[in-house]
Parts: sequence; structure tokens; C-alpha cells
Amino acid sequence: MDPIIIIGTGMAAYTLAREFRKLDQITPLILISSDDGRSYPKPMLSNALSKDKTAEDIAMFDAGAMAKTLNAEIIINHVVTRISPQAHTLIMENGSQYHYKKLILAVGASPILLPIEGDAANEILSINTLLDYTVFRQRLVDAKHVALIGPGLIGCEFANDLIASTDVRVSVIGPSSVPMDTVLPESVAVELQQHLSDAGVEWHLNATAKAIGFSDHGFDLTLSSEAVIKPDLVISAVGLRPNISLAFEAGLMVNRGVVTDEFLQTTEKDIYALGDCAEVKGHSLLFVAPLIAAAKALAKTLAGEITAVHYSAMPVAVKTPLYPLVVASPVEKAEGEWRFEKAGSGFGVKALFVGSDEHLLGFVLSGDYVKEKQALAKQLPDIIA
Ligand SMILES: Cc1cc2nc3c(=O)[nH]c(=O)nc-3n(C[C@H](O)[C@H](O)[C@H](O)COP(=O)(O)OP(=O)(O)OC[C@H]3O[C@@H](n4cnc5c(N)ncnc54)[C@H](O)[C@@H]3O)c2cc1C
Repeated sequence: MDPIIIIGTGMAAYTLAREFRKLDQITPLILISSDDGRSYPKPMLSNALSKDKTAEDIAMFDAGAMAKTLNAEIIINHVVTRISPQAHTLIMENGSQYHYKKLILAVGASPILLPIEGDAANEILSINTLLDYTVFRQRLVDAKHVALIGPGLIGCEFANDLIASTDVRVSVIGPSSVPMDTVLPESVAVELQQHLSDAGVEWHLNATAKAIGFSDHGFDLTLSSEAVIKPDLVISAVGLRPNISLAFEAGLMVNRGVVTDEFLQTTEKDIYALGDCAEVKGHSLLFVAPLIAAAKALAKTLAGEITAVHYSAMPVAVKTPLYPLVVASPVEKAEGEWRFEKAGSGFGVKALFVGSDEHLLGFVLSGDYVKEKQALAKQLPDIIA
């Protein structure tokens, strides 16, 4: 019997494999990964310093243990370079081929690399894997000043983690006038910025990183404002881009992510996609809750019960304990207005995004208001009904 093959061993791949094995213990299952196959909760990468966790602490199981638990073959440190949908075959870097019955792309997303000039450009780190985190910890040992490029959600999480748990100076750089400007209303963003500033974070906003060169102390990082900052470790956290090239080259439809319908099926028969690489019915959502919903639905489909994915509203808790935040962004192009309620005592803001028909379409909660997350989430419309 040809196997079901999953490309990837990230949270999407392993959640799917686990859900599938609850329903089918017999069909041969193969996972192929370009990494070492360790199973770990990726969200921990941006708050593991405060928890004093090394990469080894974060990793829960190695590939061998996962293979046993899942009754699967797990091939690690191998890149899949080509898929032939017509032949139901995939080809690896070393030339070996596998025939599949069903193929699932769970190939994730990769850090966006900014075009920064200078001879030290290759020294800029991105932190998207356990291996990246290992390098980050090693480089942090001697660091005195960390520059974080990108004041978005992940950049703010790293800023909080660094300032709360190390003695390093932390500078955050970005083109917007406030942090997390694409998801927070300005008044909330200003409060977030203030709380991180109070803890010691330095901001270089309305500016981009232009060039980086080596210097005696580490690096000279020149900004578009012509200011020069002098960090000895530079992290880029400017976002991720879904890995779509494998799908594109195989002739599958891609957009921001690999395009799928509500059954997680791509435009090719017997090929599915989920997780950070997938764009499900127009939604490219790079966080954990959507991949869990997708894995549960797809596991049923693969086991013979064709099941559409259901995305209810999925608020994200931002890991900035210095300023607790929960974000449930309205869907793209939603029309409405922000309404604010501010804590009389204590701190924080409740920001509700309300449509013209007075229905709640999204919200941002901070400080004392984060406890209202569940109650408000129930009032939000489904993302995919
Ligand atoms: C620092 C950080 C903090 C985050 N915090 C949160 C959070 O607080 N809450 C939240 O909900 N989400 C968070 N996220 C997002 C969340 O972690 C991701 O959405 C999720 O882990 C994506 O899982 P994935 O399996 O789709 O992708 P990945 O984990 O990227 O896995 C992709 C897999 O595919 C393999 N692969 C890729 N290409 C090939 C190939 N050609 N051949 C073979 N193998 C291949 C890779 O080796 C890897 O095993 C965070 C992300 C980061 C980076």
C-alpha cells in the first residue's frame, strides 16, 4: 500500500500525524523533514529566555521517539526538491524517490530577509527554528547590546523576553511610528511602547536598517535616518513568508501561501497543505490555532470521512508580560470603527472593532482586560464557517 507522506516535522505535520493515528493505525505514514525532526512548541522561541530554557529544554521528543509514538517512518535532514503530481511521486535532494497515496505539504514559512547593505549583513540572525535559537543563545553569552529589526508582534515578544531576563541593552528598529502598528490601534500601541520603554527598551522608529558593518565593539548599524547604533548582536524579526516554491514548481496554485479549499486540498488531486505554508480559502494565518483546526479536519478526510475545516475566531495572546495583550484582528478589509474603554483603576485598554450593524468584528485587550478574551471571542464571527 502506498503511504501517506507528510513533508515537514513542525507543529502542523506532527499535529496532523497524531490526529490521523487516532483514526487510522494501519495506513503507512512517512514524514520527511529538512530539519532534525525534534518536536517542540515553536511559540516558546520568543519567551524561552525568561523561562531559562535552552533548545534542549524546549525540544520535547526527538524524531526516533516521534516515529515510535506515531508508528511512522520519519526521514530527517533530507530536503524534498520536487513533486510530480501526475506520477504521485516526490524526489529528494539525494535523488531518491517516494511514491505517495496522499501527500501533505506542511513545509512552514521562512524569515523574510531585508536587503541590508554592508559586509556584516550575513551576521544578522532570524529566529524561526530550534537551531536558530541555539545560535541565538550562544551569541547572547557575550552580548551587551542587541538590536532587533522589526517592531511587530514577534519583535516585541523578543524585546520583552530580552529586557526582562538579561542585562543587555535592547534597541528596536522599524519604519512605523509605533510598535505592532498593523494589528494594534495607535493608542494601545503607544501604551505597549511605553511599558517596554519603562523596562529599558530603546526605540528607533520611523527608520529602517540600511547598512551593517563590522566594528571594534561588534557592528555599526546605520539607519535610514542616518543614525548609527552600535549593537553586538542583531536579530531580524520582520516577518515570515510561506514556503511555496515546491508547490509552485509542481504546478499547484499559489498565492501568498499554497492555495487550498476548505478541505485543505490544493489544486492537485491527492495533495493537501496546512500550517504556515497554506492559504486556506483565502486565509494565510501563521499561528498555531488554525493549524490545529486544519489538522483535525484533514486527519478525518485522510481517514475516509471528508471533512471541511472550521475556523472560529482565534484570538492570539501576545507574549509581552510587561504589557499583557490579546489580539483578535478583524478579517482583512472589514469595515467598522474602533471603540475604546479604559480601566478606571488598574491598567489596560479594551478596544472593540465594531461593524456598521453593531456586530463585534475584532478586538484588542490589554492589561487587566485580557481576562475578557474568552467571553468576547464567542461574540466574533467565524473566519471559515
Ligand atoms: C518566534 C516565534 C514565536 C511564535 N509565537 C507564537 C505564539 O505565541 N502563538 C501562536 O499561535 N503562534 C506563534 N508562532 C507561530 C507558530 O509557531 C507557527 O505558526 C507554527 O509553528 C508553524 O508550524 P508549521 O509546522 O506550519 O511550520 P514549521 O514549524 O516551519 O515547519 C516546517 C517544516 O517543514 C520542513 N520543510 C520545509 N521545506 C522542506 C522541504 N523542501 N523538504 C523537507 N522538509 C521541509 C521543515 O524542516 C520543518 O520541519 C510563533 C512563531 C515564531 C517563529
